[in-house]
Amino acid sequence: MSAFDKLEIWWITGAQLLYGGDAVVSVDGHSKEMVENLNRSGIIPVKIVYKGTANSSQEVEAVMKAANNEEKCIGIITWMHTFSPAKMWIKGLQALHKPLLHFHTQYNAEIPWNEIDMDFMNLNQSAHGDIEFGHICTRMRVARKVVCGYWKNADVQQKIAVWARVCAGVADAHNVRCLMFGMNMNNVAVTDGDRVEFEQRLGYHVDYYPVSSLMDYFKKVTDAEADALVAQYKKEYTVKIDESGEKVYWEKVHNAAKAEIALRRVLKDEGATAFTTNFDDLGDADINDPNFVGFDQIPGLASQRLMAEGIGFGAEGDWKTACLYRTLWVMQQGMPTGCSFLEDYTLNFAGDRSSCLQSHMLEICPLIAVDKPKLEVHFLGIGIRKQQTARLVFTSKVGHGIKATVVDLGNRFRLISQEVECIEPKPMPKLPVASALWVPQPTFEIGAGAWILAGGTHHSAFSYDITEEYWEDFAEILGIEYVRINKQTTTADFKQTLRNNEVYYMLNKALK
Ligand code: MN
Repeated sequence: MSAFDKLEIWWITGAQLLYGGDAVVSVDGHSKEMVENLNRSGIIPVKIVYKGTANSSQEVEAVMKAANNEEKCIGIITWMHTFSPAKMWIKGLQALHKPLLHFHTQYNAEIPWNEIDMDFMNLNQSAHGDIEFGHICTRMRVARKVVCGYWKNADVQQKIAVWARVCAGVADAHNVRCLMFGMNMNNVAVTDGDRVEFEQRLGYHVDYYPVSSLMDYFKKVTDAEADALVAQYKKEYTVKIDESGEKVYWEKVHNAAKAEIALRRVLKDEGATAFTTNFDDLGDADINDPNFVGFDQIPGLASQRLMAEGIGFGAEGDWKTACLYRTLWVMQQGMPTGCSFLEDYTLNFAGDRSSCLQSHMLEICPLIAVDKPKLEVHFLGIGIRKQQTARLVFTSKVGHGIKATVVDLGNRFRLISQEVECIEPKPMPKLPVASALWVPQPTFEIGAGAWILAGGTHHSAFSYDITEEYWEDFAEILGIEYVRINKQTTTADFKQTLRNNEVYYMLNKALK
């Protein structure tokens, strides 16, 4: 079963009755064949459902309202087989609250030069029908993705596939509840922001959850339950015992398993699919009290493992990155190379290969690991618990990737993506954390500079599998600002884009 099996994309063919009933019957047949072909292609992961031709304003409005009310429907594809006078789309487009893709294609591939006649013309009018439709979308400022090309071409279908995956992410975001175990870290600007506006614009609901209530769950986890989970760890990871010694190692791993079970139970009971932690807030009990029951270490191992299952995570109360990571994981389900929460850790100046080490004190997702992670326990001297702490240690795959973040600029949210090249790191025997090493594109100097000018975060949601086209579609659907940093970026053009956007969004807000 595919992760997207329960979802649908609706296909609506625009036509009109001017050419007679026979023409509409042919249009209907062509549409069915095209939809079946797209579904059979194996490229588009979400099932496309043909909803018939729309031949009048009433029919358009009815199908758009039906789409709004159908939970399974995550987006609409429109295609104007014949000329479909666009004033008949006004009320339907006003009503539509689902993502829209306008597909500019044609049933017939090549002009049949010897046979072409008026009957052929009546049935192959998307050349002007789609232009008319495009005009009304632009006139009405309707957000949409426009895909142009022949419907049997794999690269054209791939553009629809990207959008379909993004629609699944957007639909999921609408249902995300992110729990903050503790608040975001004091004094940090970039992890703060307007959670009300965040939900209005992006859909995610972010709640505070008391650490004391999490501790109530923790206290109820039995040793037998923890032992069973530790047995699972032994199967999935390489056990590596270092300076902590065997006794402390297993004690810490056992307690880390308890923390994972407690977190899982809270998330399940609260219907949450994302969470944040704060290393300064792990329950207020004194760990040296002989009766202490609670988190004896930062629950980093749990965060690593939950991320691998698609639970959004942000460290230090970073709810925006936690939510974005959740969406990234949803969008790229079934893809091979993985995604993770990451942090810009430390720089490595090396000429044109200058890079930035990506890590965190613990919480990196093992989906990006190059080989089997090692389960290790080491001292961690940060936060309220300065303790021996369990974590998965690994290095990450090399290759092309993209990092993304969303920041609150006060008057709007800005989504930023940046292409990066992950390269081979050197061993770090005294820094036992999971990590990746990347060169920001186009170079460290331009790439890191652009990220800073855009106001980017030091945390990001990273993927090897998706491209900036995904983030572009995501921002378009949500109506938020999107800026990209890639191999073509120049500092001068990027600065100008930021200035232009400043004006655009000021006016855009005033228009609404
Ligand atoms: Mn951090």
